[in-house]
Amino acid sequence: MALTFPIYLDYHATTPVDPRVLEAMLPYFTSRFGNAASRSHKYGWDADKAVEKGRQQVAALVSGTAGEIVFTSGASESNNLAIKGAVGATAGRPAHVITTRIEHKSVLDSCKRLEQQGVRVTYLPVDASGRVDPADVERAIGDDTVLVSVMAANNEIGAVQPLAEIGAITRARGVLLHTDAAQAAGKVPVDVRAMNIDLLSCTAHKMYGPKGIGALYIRKRTPRLQLTPLIDGGGHERGFRSGTLNVPGIVGFGRAAEINGEEMSAESARLSAMRDRLYEGLCAVLPGCVGLNGSFDRRLPHNLSVHFRGVEGESILMAIDDVALSSGSACSSGSIEPSYVLKACGIGDDLALSSIRFGLGRFTTDEEVDYAIDKVGKVIAHLRAGHAAARGARAVRA
Ligand SMILES: *Cc1c(COP(=O)(O)O)cnc(C)c1O
Repeated sequence: MALTFPIYLDYHATTPVDPRVLEAMLPYFTSRFGNAASRSHKYGWDADKAVEKGRQQVAALVSGTAGEIVFTSGASESNNLAIKGAVGATAGRPAHVITTRIEHKSVLDSCKRLEQQGVRVTYLPVDASGRVDPADVERAIGDDTVLVSVMAANNEIGAVQPLAEIGAITRARGVLLHTDAAQAAGKVPVDVRAMNIDLLSCTAHKMYGPKGIGALYIRKRTPRLQLTPLIDGGGHERGFRSGTLNVPGIVGFGRAAEINGEEMSAESARLSAMRDRLYEGLCAVLPGCVGLNGSFDRRLPHNLSVHFRGVEGESILMAIDDVALSSGSACSSGSIEPSYVLKACGIGDDLALSSIRFGLGRFTTDEEVDYAIDKVGKVIAHLRAGHAAARGARAVRA
């Protein structure tokens, strides 16, 4: 098959809408355009039925029930609602939140906002593979701890966290556990019951659904889990999130979640084999130059983050015009600061700055991976030759 350029290897930033998802969505823009809150006619009833089906499909992906899903605009909003909402519901009592240094900005900045309001926040370190030690979570829990927020999988280095172990601790200590599963949901098994997760954020556009629709799973339990809403209004979504529901988005999210659930194990095997081939290919064309960020153990199957000794990530990306890649998270790309995620994993500034993240996905082919190996290999060899020449010239002048 002919290659289409630029080749997309940035699936952690976003994914294209699967044609099966688009097909499911289309009628809900036109003939079935009803407001799901309209109770007096068929347009409303049809929309409501579609929303409830989507709720069921999203819930099933994480082993929750439909009544535990609240639709939002995406994982950023879900993270804000979970963290600010849980602390808000403590009604001014001293509150403590535990999170990690490698969370998405929507978690870290929500925590920073709370700190300005007097909330105590602990940012746990991670090891070289990007994982949190559950014993650190246990030690950090105090009498005032309201919430522990640990991402299910990291968007830069793909580290999958030991959530079941952490969930056993938070449940025993009576503390809420929130997880940002934007990267994990649909890619690796996430089970809110088995893992004792109380709150879970996910988003459609990281799993071949549309942008602008996400969900917060809110465990049903007694006494009811309290969250202060961010958006007040008509009382939609059991009062947790007012606003007319994005019906086509929810239909697409539901179908996307269903497909991810069905194809997860086969797709995971296909992508991890492709990812390993990419890594081995890069090592073969650039001997002694490529280093893995993080570890292959408990890593998202479609993630590869590597550093290239002796070159800069941004200059690599500038030199590669036909493969869409990123030096780190999309949210901080454009800045030349070394990634806070890589730094937290103990990777020095130089190697962090020479890092590239590859994100493979549903539509990635072997031919595309081969092209990327060849292209990246040539560009890096060229840049390294340039650096070596510059060093040589400096040495001669000195
Ligand atoms: C993409 C992403 C988000 C943000 O999701 P949006 O739906 O774009 O708001 C949050 N957390 C992680 C880990 C992500 O990868």
